[in-house]
Amino acid sequence: MTDTAVPPPSVREVVAALDARYPRAWAEQWDRVGLVLGDFDTRVDQVLCVVDCVAETVEEAVAAGANLIVAHHPLLLKGVSSVAPDTYKGRIVHRLIKADIALYVAHTNADVANPGVSDALAARLGLVHTRPLVPAAPGTPAAGDGRGAGRIGDLAEAMTLADLTELAARRLPPTAAGVRAAGDPARIVRTLAVCGGAGDSFLSDAAAAGVDAYLCADLRHHPASEHLAAGGPALLDAAHWATERPWLDEVASWLRASFPVTALVSDLDTDPWTVHAVSGNKEYLT
Ligand SMILES: [Zn+2]
Repeated sequence: MTDTAVPPPSVREVVAALDARYPRAWAEQWDRVGLVLGDFDTRVDQVLCVVDCVAETVEEAVAAGANLIVAHHPLLLKGVSSVAPDTYKGRIVHRLIKADIALYVAHTNADVANPGVSDALAARLGLVHTRPLVPAAPGTPAAGDGRGAGRIGDLAEAMTLADLTELAARRLPPTAAGVRAAGDPARIVRTLAVCGGAGDSFLSDAAAAGVDAYLCADLRHHPASEHLAAGGPALLDAAHWATERPWLDEVASWLRASFPVTALVSDLDTDPWTVHAVSGNKEYLT
């Protein structure tokens, strides 16, 4: 290394920058974000960004020589009294510590950030004039500066729900689940709400916003049916991983711009669903 070369940052320095971009106070009360494990003094050359810190993405990090994983979902959300290596998560903890790979989580604090998880999703779908679906409430730590949950925006051009479903399936990272929609396939969609991850809890906000359609993940039979019966926007249900994976590109490019590090993005689909078959004799499905 020459005198002019910029030394790689420490875990401490990268964590401080991540904490400044995604303050822990912006996370929901139930959430668990920030540094999970790792040596503050380890130098960071390589970062791997993942939606889920699971055994497969940990092995990806080891193979890539990563010193830090930035994950969206918490590895340890509920209280634990043991990380013994005969448990699934315990093995992950041991593997990471032995490989000297730090683990950092930005979850609901990255959801409400601006730019945040749903901005990356909105960008994939070509939404313009985006704003929060649920602005962070005044007086809460995340309030202001366009922060909040989900995003609303306008499509570059109006299209039918059927065409929008096709577009979403093409633009989002590929998964076995793909994208399904609820509502009249011929309905014209001009304004769209999106939310990375599970979106049940914002159904009424999407209806109140008056958008034509709402795209998120993990929609369930009764909430979706009752929302539609009440005249709410059409619904698009995508794979959970696919709605949050676009954010990884944004956080990786920010890491590259902020530090002399290589920031990689995992394309390993961590959705549990691996097989999808389309039922026959539905002409609008062809
Ligand atoms: Zn999620």
